[in-house]
Amino acid sequence: MLKGKTALVTGSTSGIGLGIAKALARQGANIVLNGFGDAEGPKAEVAALGVKVGYHGADMSKAADIEAMMKYAAETFGKVDVLVNNAGIQHVAPVEDFPPERWDAIIAINLTSAFHTTRLALPAMKKANWGRIINIASVHGLVASAQKSAYVAAKHGIVGLTKVTALETATTGITCNAICPGWVLTPLVQKQVDARAAQSGVSNEEAKKQLLAEKEPSLQFTTPEELGELAVFFCSDAGKNVRGVAWNMDGGWAAQ
Ligand code: NAD
Repeated sequence: MLKGKTALVTGSTSGIGLGIAKALARQGANIVLNGFGDAEGPKAEVAALGVKVGYHGADMSKAADIEAMMKYAAETFGKVDVLVNNAGIQHVAPVEDFPPERWDAIIAINLTSAFHTTRLALPAMKKANWGRIINIASVHGLVASAQKSAYVAAKHGIVGLTKVTALETATTGITCNAICPGWVLTPLVQKQVDARAAQSGVSNEEAKKQLLAEKEPSLQFTTPEELGELAVFFCSDAGKNVRGVAWNMDGGWAAQ
């Protein structure tokens, strides 16, 4: 379905981003990976799916890095057809104790980076009259949880950016939508599981159960593979008139 197209997925050396990159690669898309840590393992996993794979280590908190990454993608693959804004971090603290530099980092990485990649990707998408922009928001783009002020603000913000981008491209072959996962057991969430286990003196397994029971009626984690399939649907021809949605895959979290 995506043969000959190129997908750039930010924050794709791990977790949800890597899951989405692999799902798009299974549809034939060439992939540009981004993120910190080991890039060789993720590159090999994607290349094993028979597509071309590139990598750029841009720091998503830096506009100049993002510009360099978009330039690299255009020079290496022609253009970016599918943009997945996924890079994200978390910090948990009450508002009055929230370190201002953590606030700034979360807004920069979880929200502002998507503005930069989107503004830089749109001209080539408009020229081709085809494009897919998929913003990985969160159920926290729809509802709030205590202690997550910056994250919830950034995720509500990216849902807003999604809607504006969808409106501005509504008469074109470009769509923009958001995906809003509930709990996904990635390193980002494992840190919260570890903190809960340490705080309450319970096992890792028990901490996971508690985390799910508190928020997610299905009592199941969503997986990166499931989220990847939703991204594939947004890229499909059947998804061409899905515009500006914030689609939760959250085990019923936001239905409560
Ligand atoms: P993760 O920690 O497994 O992966 C985050 C990725 O972002 C990594 O590749 C990391 O290297 C990259 N990254 C972090 N800071 C970066 C920076 N400054 N520049 C470039 N890359 C950077 O986390 P995840 O759970 O896979 O999260 C991916 C996205 O999904 C995030 O936006 C997160 O908010 C969102 N999300 C996660 C969950 C969940 O339960 N895990 C739920 C809802 C939404």
